[in-house]
Amino acid sequence: MNANMLQGRRALVTGSVQGIGLAIATELARQGATVVLHGLPDLKAQAIAQAVLREVGQAELQMLSHDLSDPQQVEQMMKETLGSGPLDILVNNAGIQHTAPLAQMPRQRWDAVMAINLSAAFDTMRLALPGMMECGYGRIVNIASVHGLVASVNKAPYVAAKFGLVGLTRVAALEAAQAGSRSSGGVTANCICPGWTETVIIEPQIQQRAAQFGGDRDAGIRDLLREKQPSGRTSTPQEIARTVVWLCDPAAHNLTGAAIPVDGGWTAQ
Ligand code: NAD
Repeated sequence: MNANMLQGRRALVTGSVQGIGLAIATELARQGATVVLHGLPDLKAQAIAQAVLREVGQAELQMLSHDLSDPQQVEQMMKETLGSGPLDILVNNAGIQHTAPLAQMPRQRWDAVMAINLSAAFDTMRLALPGMMECGYGRIVNIASVHGLVASVNKAPYVAAKFGLVGLTRVAALEAAQAGSRSSGGVTANCICPGWTETVIIEPQIQQRAAQFGGDRDAGIRDLLREKQPSGRTSTPQEIARTVVWLCDPAAHNLTGAAIPVDGGWTAQ
């Protein structure tokens, strides 16, 4: 991979003011891409994200804060993004989680998880793909989950949305397969399927486990990993981000329609 491989490319990363999204935005910017940041309107998180991107050399910053649970706002976000320049890389990363047994899952949580984790990606892809196919280079990277490949209890909407995201991505990969060429880099669509990755989204589950060990957080994490993730190690957001950069390499023009696990062997079992 060449340094500055993504010079001249423009990327939108949804949910990029923290966690995995911020790490992806940072790694793309480090490779020379101009990244449009997006996240809920949390001024402190937005300021930190902007400072991180400035540190890796991005001078001009565009920050969007549309609520992706609302289809009209998703459309508006894409209008603003595409209105200020072509989009080469789209990373659908924003996501929420709610854990409860299926029979006790509130209908509203189902709707919210499906809207943010799946339907928003449908709309961003629908609006971004034509421009990518016209210019012959495009990368759609959807941050799914191991739960796009296997199920777990208490996660009905999350599992349904992430399985849906994997299917949606495969359709996009097929429809864009013939766009561009080896030299232009082609248009690809892939999912990354992380296992346990240390961000705030898994904190409630860590705390729940820690409570079984007298509040010992490390013991809680060890117990979560022992159950499902054979490596016994969490991933860092930066490690997920390096996989995104790899997919954006023009040399990855034939790597499309994949759901790539970064899960320490979880889905190999
Ligand atoms: P996080 O909670 O730190 O980040 C979620 C991001 O989504 C935030 O930037 C937030 O602003 C954004 N977001 C949430 N609701 C939104 C809304 N209504 N409108 C717009 N943006 C909204 O979590 P994370 O761990 O960084 O998660 C990123 C992605 O990775 C998610 O799709 C998640 O499902 C996936 N994932 C995480 C793990 C893990 O272990 N952390 C594992 C597998 C998959």
